[in-house]
Amino acid sequence: MKHHTDIPQLFHSHESDSLFTNCLCCDEPILESGHEYVIEKAYTSYSDYKVSDTVFEYAMCLDCLVQLQGQMSKTSLRRVEAYFEQHVDINERIQSASEEDVDVNDRLSYCMVKGTHIRELSEYQVFGLFRANQMLLGPFPYMIGGAAMDEIAQLLSNETLGEIDGFMDSHFGLPPELRKLFLDKPVLLI
Ligand SMILES: [Zn+2]
Repeated sequence: MKHHTDIPQLFHSHESDSLFTNCLCCDEPILESGHEYVIEKAYTSYSDYKVSDTVFEYAMCLDCLVQLQGQMSKTSLRRVEAYFEQHVDINERIQSASEEDVDVNDRLSYCMVKGTHIRELSEYQVFGLFRANQMLLGPFPYMIGGAAMDEIAQLLSNETLGEIDGFMDSHFGLPPELRKLFLDKPVLLI
């Protein structure tokens, strides 16, 4: 049974070009603390050039994540949960994660909801759960493409979108064209 693996490059910090070391909100040293944490990264890719850029990225301890989710409307969170239940076979993902030959890169190459290959996506987000320098396997990690992100954004209340905007504003200084692209998109999909 394989439940964890080395952290793939995709989840390294673009800023430091190595592993994330601290929680975005409380600054906890996540590599040393032994507590679980999440990483979310958003990418845009320019298919003509076969390169992708990190739009925003963060690591966050679970305490801070739960606190942040507590600020979002229950209705929004329930709708997003229902969306995933409807479109994703979570049990299958958990099952396959425990198989010896689970291919994490393959999993991160397709939108979890739509099945679109990463090569065909101009924007996508990846999300994973980690402890120290290991990535934990289960429903995570996953990748979601722009089309699914748009659908999920539709499920969120204005209040929740406002919370997300506030979070993004206070932590990331995005250039206007990327703000337009990502600020109305959900983060913290869990
Ligand atoms: Zn924290």
